Amino acid sequence: MMDGGICSYDVDACVTLQQEELAVLESIYPDYVWLDALKTTIRLEIPVELPEGTTVTVQSDTAAARSIISESEWSDGYDDEFSSPPKAHTTLSVLPPVLLDVRLPPTYPHAPPQIRTIHTTYSWLEDDLRVNLEKILAALWVEGEGALYTWLEWIRSGDFLDALHMSATADGKRIVNIPHPTPGLLMPMLQEFNISTQAARVSATSYACQVCSTSVKGARCVVLSCSHVFCRSCLESSWKQCIQEGNVGRVGCLNPACVEDHQEATEEEVRHVVAGEEVAEWKRLRAKRALDTDMLCP
Ligand SMILES: [Zn+2]
Ligand SMILES: [Zn+2]
Repeated sequence: MMDGGICSYDVDACVTLQQEELAVLESIYPDYVWLDALKTTIRLEIPVELPEGTTVTVQSDTAAARSIISESEWSDGYDDEFSSPPKAHTTLSVLPPVLLDVRLPPTYPHAPPQIRTIHTTYSWLEDDLRVNLEKILAALWVEGEGALYTWLEWIRSGDFLDALHMSATADGKRIVNIPHPTPGLLMPMLQEFNISTQAARVSATSYACQVCSTSVKGARCVVLSCSHVFCRSCLESSWKQCIQEGNVGRVGCLNPACVEDHQEATEEEVRHVVAGEEVAEWKRLRAKRALDTDMLCP
């Protein structure tokens, strides 16, 4: 055993430090911290917040494999369908939680905290990245200081994505790239989680409608995929009018930046806001526009 082992520190003092650290953590993040009855194993369940307008892409490893395999080998050995690997992207404001099971040894914070497991909901973080994350977390611990708050904040803020080389910035906007074997399966789950998290937050909070500035709460407001919030009635009257005028391109977010970006509503959003007849008309207009575009550029 090394010098400076368990005998060098007063275990009671360490236990007090641990209890203080956990109490602070629980008071700041009551929803993220779970303790077992003996308070020896701590589960941190940390959703990853993304800055507004973050684009998330999910890309299969085929692309990575391709960069290793030379061009000729690739075209010889692989079918055409693999030559453009499936890639999907969307705008998200939150990623599903990173789950950390941590055990604190009796002499923590003088001994390092032990990470028992790291998981991500829907396994969105691949194994090799998870292993890297564990190494980086371990390196963040400073002897004698509590590590849990640092860890939690580092994950919650999404800063760990930079350390794992999963993020980039283009035109001032953040892009997060998630390598995953089955993007087609993962992407809908990420979107679903994003929508349900936003809905839960909206129902707990009041937001100012971007049109009429009224403070709206819960079911009376609509959060679009770009994270902008409107009263349902403001959105409904605007979209109805656009559909009546045949202006399908304006059925979308009313925030000026999104209007400029031509941020259009998804079918789900349209169904959520206007009635069946208008949804049908909106779909007809969209189909017509697609047809017109095809005829312009064959
Ligand atoms: Zn409004
Ligand atoms: Zn918007």
